[in-house]
Amino acid sequence: MPLCSMRQVLDEAAKGNYGVGAFNVNNMEQIQAIMEAARETQSPVIIQASRGARSYSQDKFLYHLMLAAAELYPEIPLVMHLDHGNSVETCKSAIDLGFTSVMMDGSLMPDGKTPSTFEYNVKATRAVVELAHDKGVTVEGEIGVLGGIEDGHGAGGTGLEHITDPEQAVEFVEKTGLDALAIAIGTSHGAYKFNKKPDGSVLKMQRLIEIHKRLPNTHLVMHGSSSVPKDLQDVINQYGGQLKPTWGVPVEEIQLGIRNGVRKVNVDTDNRLAITGAIRKVFIETPEKFDPRDYLKPAREAMKKVVAQRMKEFGQAGHAGDYAPISLSDYASKYAANALVAAR
Ligand SMILES: [Zn+2]
Repeated sequence: MPLCSMRQVLDEAAKGNYGVGAFNVNNMEQIQAIMEAARETQSPVIIQASRGARSYSQDKFLYHLMLAAAELYPEIPLVMHLDHGNSVETCKSAIDLGFTSVMMDGSLMPDGKTPSTFEYNVKATRAVVELAHDKGVTVEGEIGVLGGIEDGHGAGGTGLEHITDPEQAVEFVEKTGLDALAIAIGTSHGAYKFNKKPDGSVLKMQRLIEIHKRLPNTHLVMHGSSSVPKDLQDVINQYGGQLKPTWGVPVEEIQLGIRNGVRKVNVDTDNRLAITGAIRKVFIETPEKFDPRDYLKPAREAMKKVVAQRMKEFGQAGHAGDYAPISLSDYASKYAANALVAAR
């Protein structure tokens, strides 16, 4: 099965009223963990790479691993997505490489840290939509500024993050013609999100519901949506780690989001925690071992477990066989037809 358009995967998710996890990868074991979880749960899947991941893997390694995944798991609709593209050029390089979906994060300037203006965001996102849709590639944009830093990208805890304004979200979608919209509702990147379990008001779920009411046909995206479960933190600390207590986004809040238009849910930290805990356990319990497979296998298994659990919780499990991927060139003609309608 060829790599799939994210638009198709999210349209199907909207029809079925479920969410699709988007999991970050840097290496082979993480891709294998996701694909095994997808096979076990029969889930369509979005695999995403940040700029940091692309440079870590020299781009080509990652791309060919993704092609291997598509070849080895032909029954799984599989999207290759660029997470937090910082400029039109970065998005273009991903499209040229073969990504089937890109995020243009114009909420920040190309330095990936400084909040931008609305006008800049519209202009950059629109430019990416034009070159992506020509090739059938899906575009995610962002309005509002998320907290936290991931792979060096983000406004950080600087007080510069701000919650998405629904009115501005509507204008942004109209002016850019994007496919999926990341909104800021109080989540942040990284492991340290909240110092106690957050409730629906901390997470501004009402704001999300309001945005969905105004934009019922736009796929919403929740970033920074790891749940940072205590059991994963505990394994790390039990085997010599030093994580401070922290809380992530409760799964039930994500599920509330999914009932209100969230179709893509970004999860990275939980997988990082699972991998690191598993590796620490091997190091502490069997210090005589030195074959990387002795700790990479349990690490891969630990990540697979987390991913499979999220796939069930987000509702994507069981939906892999619902549809066959449409080719990107067919998507390109679909987009072109829509653009003609919009221009009239
Ligand atoms: Zn993000």
